[in-house]
Amino acid sequence: MADLQLTDDVPPEAADGVWLACIECGETFAPFEEVRYTCDDCDGLLEVRYGDLPTFEDFEGEGSGVWRYHAALPFDVGVTLPEGDTPLHEVPRIEEAAGVDSLRVKHEGMNPTGSFKDRGMTVGVRVAQEVGVDRLACASTGNTSAALAAYGARGDMETLVLLPAGKVAAGKIAQAALHKARILEVDGNFDQCLDIVQDLAARGEAYLLNSLNPFRLEGQKTIGLEIMEEHYADYGEYPDRIVLPVGNAGNTAALYKCFRELVKSGAITEDQVPKLTGAQAEGAAPMVEAIHEGLDETNRWESVETRATAIRIGNPVNAPKALPGIRETGGTAVAVSDEEITEAQRELAGEGVGVEPASAASVAGLHKLREEGEIEADESVVCLTTGHLLKDPDAAAEAGNDPEPVANSTEAVLEHIGAESSSTVRRGASKVLTSPLALVAGGLGVAYLYRKLRSKE
Ligand SMILES: *Cc1c(COP(=O)(O)O)cnc(C)c1O
Ligand SMILES: [Zn+2]
Repeated sequence: MADLQLTDDVPPEAADGVWLACIECGETFAPFEEVRYTCDDCDGLLEVRYGDLPTFEDFEGEGSGVWRYHAALPFDVGVTLPEGDTPLHEVPRIEEAAGVDSLRVKHEGMNPTGSFKDRGMTVGVRVAQEVGVDRLACASTGNTSAALAAYGARGDMETLVLLPAGKVAAGKIAQAALHKARILEVDGNFDQCLDIVQDLAARGEAYLLNSLNPFRLEGQKTIGLEIMEEHYADYGEYPDRIVLPVGNAGNTAALYKCFRELVKSGAITEDQVPKLTGAQAEGAAPMVEAIHEGLDETNRWESVETRATAIRIGNPVNAPKALPGIRETGGTAVAVSDEEITEAQRELAGEGVGVEPASAASVAGLHKLREEGEIEADESVVCLTTGHLLKDPDAAAEAGNDPEPVANSTEAVLEHIGAESSSTVRRGASKVLTSPLALVAGGLGVAYLYRKLRSKE
């Protein structure tokens, strides 16, 4: 089992108090001397470790976004657009429907390229410069490629992205294309793209910036820092629970690391750590399976399917870091159907918060766990929404209202919306009218009066 215990011993390999540690065998490595993504000895996942861990006071300096937290990061500044500082929306109608003490939505779709991936890339691309590699690569369900392309362009570097053909939302491909990435469409799924890009990276062809790269997770930790600070400022306490969509489980791993570091520095106590709660689509839910069945690792799902393409992943590479995160914080994992995801997407949109399908899995998961009694009525909850509505315009159009054809004249438009308005009035009137007949008569009467009035103008 992975050892995620943070230690005080700074190994001789450390540079400026920063080093890499294998979570499986404990081996330590210099952070930037050589390019490595996993442990030389056992191929286990690596984690970035620090001799000095900050408390909240250390973040009070100048600056904004991800780099305001540089005391928790390996550099003082990165390749930045800038990123972070995303809103923690109030969503009173969803809060009421879910029946929890408080609900906030951390909308990561408000980052520069429209997803939380930017937080990881601002650090990851900086590391690529530090180790002296100028070709960047990733496999992606879309958002990683959009972010990598933009940050690669910003850093004046070459970018290669491998995408599963036909399975990436239009907005994301458009971003990668315009930000000058070379887009390789692979006839396979995301997990197969990742296998290939890992081979390329192992041969020294490119610097790998999937969430297997431990430095990306450092940037993504700042989601947790922002949530903790803002929630405390608003309520005088930290949230009981964070519900988030899970694909490769990088964010789950990053948030858990954020909380472990805050506990270790004494910024929070163990019982102030929010319960990490993962939401996956039913058609791609290996993490949920592992949590429910008490497995030490996830089974690789060879065939995965969901409308939420950003989390259409069958082999979550960060599971060894994320499964302990869910278990140790007292959280859980839940699978939601595509229909539930779309319903939650509409619900969020109804609060003015536009998200892509994968993002809405968190809110769908909250509803489901409330119904099951797993999440309690007195909890304060934060749902993470990971990507912007415009990422997947097709899904948004399908979930939303259909356009209504109307003739090219003001009269025709008035006629059209007039019929609509009278039906609104009728619905209002139905509250006071009792019999169905009265309802119809009343409705027709109101509609008639309405037309009469309008024709006088
Ligand atoms: C990448 C991504 C996810 C999955 O995040 P992981 O950290 O891989 O679990 C979820 N939603 C969106 C929109 C994403 O882009
Ligand atoms: Zn190892």
